[in-house]
Amino acid sequence: MKMAVLVKQVPATENIKIDPVTGVMQRDNLQSELNPLDTYAVEQAVRMKKNFQQSTVTAVSMGIPAAQSILRQAIAMGCDEGVLLSDRAFAGSDTWATAHVLSKGLQKLGDFDIIFAGERATDGETGQVGPCVAVQLNIPVLTFVSEVKIEEDGKILATRSVEGGYELVRVSSPVLISVVKEINEPWIPDYNGMMKSRSASIKIMTAQDIGVDKADCGLEGSPTRVSKVFYPKLTRNGEVFSDSDPEKAAQKIVDFLKEKNIL
Ligand SMILES: Cc1cc2nc3c(=O)[nH]c(=O)nc-3n(C[C@H](O)[C@H](O)[C@H](O)COP(=O)(O)OP(=O)(O)OC[C@H]3O[C@@H](n4cnc5c(N)ncnc54)[C@H](O)[C@@H]3O)c2cc1C
Repeated sequence: MKMAVLVKQVPATENIKIDPVTGVMQRDNLQSELNPLDTYAVEQAVRMKKNFQQSTVTAVSMGIPAAQSILRQAIAMGCDEGVLLSDRAFAGSDTWATAHVLSKGLQKLGDFDIIFAGERATDGETGQVGPCVAVQLNIPVLTFVSEVKIEEDGKILATRSVEGGYELVRVSSPVLISVVKEINEPWIPDYNGMMKSRSASIKIMTAQDIGVDKADCGLEGSPTRVSKVFYPKLTRNGEVFSDSDPEKAAQKIVDFLKEKNIL
């Protein structure tokens, strides 16, 4: 079985700041890491590789040259190789253009049976890239997957987490599967994995290598326009009820809530 995992480099912080003037994420001086939710996708692919002889897992990312480090992390976790799609022309890509680059890269790398993705990236958080890649490759997509099994006839049986329960879906490959945290507990890379990842060479592919037209990526190829980015203003006025007697203070709160018809 030939598998790919889509992995994204994200800022290693939850405190992401947006420039209020340009609407662009402020990435200066931010440490980066492998998108935490992608570690579950990597782990799942690696576990399945162990169960199927002659299986391979390729970690694929679109990003700046420094994103090689997250591909090394994926290799340390058990992926066979890492491929970075990197070109100045890709800068400014929205989710659709990102998915276009990824799908062209995946096509160039060969026919994958299963492409895994994380549920969402912790910076952009749209959860759109996985499904967009599937659309552009014209293959089925299963989102919010919490369990994957391969049946004897080679069909893929997946459990999807849906509102109020689970959905069992049976599909044929090729398929794109985006996974949720519940699917596994990612292993921390061991010494052998770390050593392997340090010496691994990351394949870098440019727009020309994967046949991406510059008009279909970057800002030019992005149908999304961010017109404004702003933080919601919270304008709540607090009111303090105090009394040296706690019971009287509590009564004041009760009276206030009754007056507002809340109680
Ligand atoms: C007009 C516009 C311009 C933008 N310009 C830039 C820019 O210059 N630089 C920039 O960094 N961002 C830019 N962005 C943001 C960029 O589009 C998103 O970060 C990117 O498309 C991924 O979307 P997301 O973070 O919502 O990922 P999600 O859709 O939440 O990610 C879901 C899953 O898809 C996979 N995935 C997502 N992105 C990648 C990737 N790059 N490589 C491999 N797998 C991936 C991962 O498995 C991930 O878990 C721009 C967005 C817009 C709208």
